[in-house]
Amino acid sequence: MKPLSVEDPEIASVIHSELERQRNNIILIASENYASRAVMEAQGCIMTNKYAEGYPGKRYYRGTACVDVAEELARERCKKLFGAEHVNVQPHSGTQANMAAYFAVLKPGDTIMGMNLAHGGHLSHGSPVNFSGRMYKIVPYSVRRDTEMLDYSEMADIATKSKPQLIVVGASSYPRIIDFKAVREIADDVGALVMADIAHIAGLCAVGAHPSPIPYADIVTTTTHKTLRGPRGALIMCKEELASSIDRSVFPGTQGGPFMNSIAAKAVAFKEALSPEFKEYQFQIVRNARALADRLLENKLDLVSGGTDNHLMMVKLLKEGITGKVADEALERAGITLNKNMIPFDPATPFVTSGIRIGTPCVTTRGMKEKQMVQIADMITAVLRDIKNEETIKAVRSQVKELCDQFPLYPDLTC
Ligand code: PLP
Repeated sequence: MKPLSVEDPEIASVIHSELERQRNNIILIASENYASRAVMEAQGCIMTNKYAEGYPGKRYYRGTACVDVAEELARERCKKLFGAEHVNVQPHSGTQANMAAYFAVLKPGDTIMGMNLAHGGHLSHGSPVNFSGRMYKIVPYSVRRDTEMLDYSEMADIATKSKPQLIVVGASSYPRIIDFKAVREIADDVGALVMADIAHIAGLCAVGAHPSPIPYADIVTTTTHKTLRGPRGALIMCKEELASSIDRSVFPGTQGGPFMNSIAAKAVAFKEALSPEFKEYQFQIVRNARALADRLLENKLDLVSGGTDNHLMMVKLLKEGITGKVADEALERAGITLNKNMIPFDPATPFVTSGIRIGTPCVTTRGMKEKQMVQIADMITAVLRDIKNEETIKAVRSQVKELCDQFPLYPDLTC
């Protein structure tokens, strides 16, 4: 029972380096966040030792009294947070949540309508390299070439022609409001079910900073570690009539024993998300994204769809003649961590890309506001405009360090 630093100094040291990396860089990866100390404490707790196949009160193992309480708290808090009829908090990841959801309502070979990966969708919405694209017939929908926004009348035409059993709506890199009501109406016209994957915008949806899909979707999936700011993991919400199919599809359908430590941590995150501070945090994420986007536009950079309504934006680098790959490498050297991303109708390959994705959940958790977003936008612009100049990169690196020092991250943590 030795501490980590004694038992495994190599791993202890690399964890410490990762803490320093998170502290000393501006992280703009739209799918990341900093979990609270309480969430991390629960995730690293002794509940990792417990097997609990099944659900509270109906387990295949003995000794589950304590973990039953944790899972019940997680379920009840999550239901309250989103106003959901039924919640399954066991999925280990967003992709596994989506798999369980599909298995609950589809047969292999059925048709799914999902957002084109290159236009903002996720791998698990039907990419040919993912199980979803291999098991189901996928009919993709895209954004319009002129507005770079979803086109609900085109979606309706595609649905009428392809008669999908399921329409999946939700995205990894779409900066605009999603009209869940419009998708419900399209689905009703063709007799399809609707699954909303709100992995990116879950925190926003929970507090009304983005419309909620709960009244419109049959199934809602989400990860718990993005805007929701919980532990790494996922959950599924559904109407009562699908509850037992969803539960059976998670266990025993696609998973074995749930990670009870993660479920305890999800319960903590949902408690935090029910607080007034969390609501304010979500609205600040959106205000920060808007401030950052507005400044990038003032600096004459192009944004997909011309701006943002949520927590992220996509910069198009075609005019600058640089690739997403070159841009994210240079920005990382300057202390700004974000990712290259395909833009709609991208002429480049997914490994190179013509865009970068920028999100504000992490910097907002650090306490930064609109003023700092303007500074960050100017730093990004400086690097992109002078991408080969190591002096510029060095100068931005020191501005980044100064900003990070003003907004300390995990000041009491010593791992
Ligand atoms: N769904 C969406 C919309 C996502 O953006 C992601 C991850 O980025 C996922 C699902 C998958 O989550 P995970 O990486 O936990 O499998």
